[in-house]
Amino acid sequence: MNAYKQIAKWGFLAFLIIATIYILRRHNAPTTSEVPYQECTGKIFGTTYKAIYQHPDDLSADIHSRLNEVDASLSMFNPISTLARINKHETDTMDAMMQEVFALAMRVSEATGGAFDCTVAPAVEAWGFGFKNREQITDEKIDSLKQLIGYRNVSMTADGLLKRQIEGVQMDFGAIAKGFGVDKVAELLSTKGVKNMLVEIGGEIIVHGTRADGKPWRIAVQSPTGEGFSAVLSRTETAMATSGNYLNYYVNEAGERVAHTISPFTARPVTHTLLSATVTAPTCAMADAFATAFMVMGVEQAKTVLEEHPALGAYLIYSEGDTLQTFAKNFSLDGK
Ligand code: ADP
Ligand code: MG
Repeated sequence: MNAYKQIAKWGFLAFLIIATIYILRRHNAPTTSEVPYQECTGKIFGTTYKAIYQHPDDLSADIHSRLNEVDASLSMFNPISTLARINKHETDTMDAMMQEVFALAMRVSEATGGAFDCTVAPAVEAWGFGFKNREQITDEKIDSLKQLIGYRNVSMTADGLLKRQIEGVQMDFGAIAKGFGVDKVAELLSTKGVKNMLVEIGGEIIVHGTRADGKPWRIAVQSPTGEGFSAVLSRTETAMATSGNYLNYYVNEAGERVAHTISPFTARPVTHTLLSATVTAPTCAMADAFATAFMVMGVEQAKTVLEEHPALGAYLIYSEGDTLQTFAKNFSLDGK
């Protein structure tokens, strides 16, 4: 047998072996519908999280450790987080996650005329929404808070150092960290090959693909009255966040609701007719930040920002007299 024939014979045999292995593997591999949906829940940033994802293995240890990284960077509640240490002047070095969040926070501040502002921290504390008790609020106190608030009071150097324009500036990523955590878990699951997932932290949510029954994920927007849902949506692809002043507030001595969204312009909690802002965006961190900014801006200004940013969608619920009104942009609801 000449050399060519030898090569052809062994080549053909090798082909047969590889083809047989391939066919056997395909035959034994579970079909998509047989791969189980796993569920993982826990607590972070003083709220709860949940991930439902289709994967043969339980990935909860990876999810917990990714969320612990986010917590170690951005949590206000963790006294040794990078954020807590920066606010205590123990360091000026932002870790990689904080650099990413800081850059996004600045972009959203620019896009919203400063309504989103990561330097609201002293006012959040003073009004009793941080981890300290509420302080006695006087006009002098408000004036001194206003000096410290303003996103232009902080910047980041090329190597990730925080620069403060004035002493005493403190940062707060409470309006972006939950969405960012959702993005990080969704990214992690994607790198593990997960196509079908729901990831949620305290109401900020990402869904991809479908539920175990093959249908789109269904997401409900809570009603501002606290009873039932305002809207239900079916989605196979979305990153969405809701800010609502009806969820996190206290009633002061005068019987007024004091809500946890702070206007950076007045250093006071915002009071207007917008009751809840649900936003969809390319990332959940971005949706989270814009939802908070819209609560500061109110309906009309929010509409302007939506015109300028076609990648955003929104569902706004506001009061008009005694009735609740809604406004939707790039946002389809079930049954409508
Ligand atoms: P939730 O999703 O819990 O309704 P948000 O995403 O609106 O909350 O975040 C509220 C938190 O964001 C506040 O508790 C405070 O820490 C921070 N915050 C309040 N006002 C602002 C603001 N104007 N810009 C950025 N962060 C804010
Ligand atoms: Mg937010």
